[in-house]
Amino acid sequence: MENKKVYIETLGCQMNKSDAERMYGMLEHIGYSQTENPKEADMLIINTCSIRQLSEDKAYSQIGVWGKWKQTRPDLKIVFAGCVAQQGGVNVIKRAPYVDIVLGTQRLYELPDLVKRIENGERVVSVDEKPFEENDIQINRVKGINAWVPIMEGCNNFCTYCIVPYTRGRERSRKPELIIAEVKKALSEGFKEITLLGQNVDSYGKDLPQGQNLSWLLRQINALEGKFRIRFVTNYPTDITDELIDTVLELGKVCEYFHIPMQSGDDYVLKKMNRRYDYTTYKKICDHLRSRVKDVTITSDFIAGFPGETEEQFKNTLKAMSELELDYSNTAAYSPRERTVAAKWTDLFIPEDVKTERLARLNEHNRACCLKSNKKYLGREMEVLIENFEVRKNGDKVITGRTRNNKIVHIPCDRDLTGEFVNVKITNARTWYLNGELI
Ligand code: SF4
Repeated sequence: MENKKVYIETLGCQMNKSDAERMYGMLEHIGYSQTENPKEADMLIINTCSIRQLSEDKAYSQIGVWGKWKQTRPDLKIVFAGCVAQQGGVNVIKRAPYVDIVLGTQRLYELPDLVKRIENGERVVSVDEKPFEENDIQINRVKGINAWVPIMEGCNNFCTYCIVPYTRGRERSRKPELIIAEVKKALSEGFKEITLLGQNVDSYGKDLPQGQNLSWLLRQINALEGKFRIRFVTNYPTDITDELIDTVLELGKVCEYFHIPMQSGDDYVLKKMNRRYDYTTYKKICDHLRSRVKDVTITSDFIAGFPGETEEQFKNTLKAMSELELDYSNTAAYSPRERTVAAKWTDLFIPEDVKTERLARLNEHNRACCLKSNKKYLGREMEVLIENFEVRKNGDKVITGRTRNNKIVHIPCDRDLTGEFVNVKITNARTWYLNGELI
């Protein structure tokens, strides 16, 4: 088989990174090897993200550069994949006529067939919303400690600000046998932490035979041999069940970590966002989790400057973040996305400078919450899975890893212990990480 080279530029979330690993795996089977240098590639793939305008602009700007390369290298193939491709469809080709394949998120597994077609001189747009079925594990994973394994795709929730239901389609569970085979493969390759990935992991199994839900899947994976950890993201607040909490408590490999996006601490804004809970409900969920799962880390997502958000409503978000003692939050200023409901409320848009200022205050609160959360662990002994070894400029040798509840810990150490589980005493708490020493 002819050896050609492919380069993939990935923008956006972990789901996209995981898709890139799958694309590399599929292309390897048809004679392409991976390169880190786009200039030596025969095929260039941009794996796009449409969560914010900035990211979409970046994707078009990147293929603009590649399009110029194609003027002197007409055999160069350019693939425009991911969320912006799903949305743009044939318009991508109109805007960037040098693109050979427009590959929607739900057609990922069609890629090898499409490559054969463009090698025969065709130009293809494949953005059908009917998913192209995955039948085999073909994945070329970036080496590391943590393997991200998608368990489902899409979302049925239609939050008014979110593009995901339009770009990733409706919820679909991956077949359990494919997930388990993928986990086994990752473990055999030396990965020590498996993170099950989905926009709403709680919905796993709703389209599978009865009984095959997230708790069931966790049991299947926990039963695999060897010492490793299991995590899962993301949970929708009101979908977290007692069965899931019981499962986390019962299964030794499943970590005490929940990522539960709240988005706003104000009931009116939550309603406008089409989130199905209010502040009191979210608080009950946090309190319940903390009362049942010792040392649980709860992280969240928040949006500053949602259309129509008043200063008072924004202050409710700040209050919620502090009152709930969230361990960490991802924060972002609202960015209108075409096709979503909130994007049409232009008369309610918050001026950019106000959004920026609110985001800065949100981040300040986030920093205070993180530091407070980290200080809880001072003097404690914790198990850390080492992910990295570095020799710093001053000659210090440091290993870095994570606790079961996802706290980052830096530890002075002369040896590279990457991939090992070590016991550590926490000696110092900083905003974003802990310091510890080996015991
Ligand atoms: S639940 Fe999450 S992925 Fe689904 S629409 Fe809402 S924000 Fe988007």
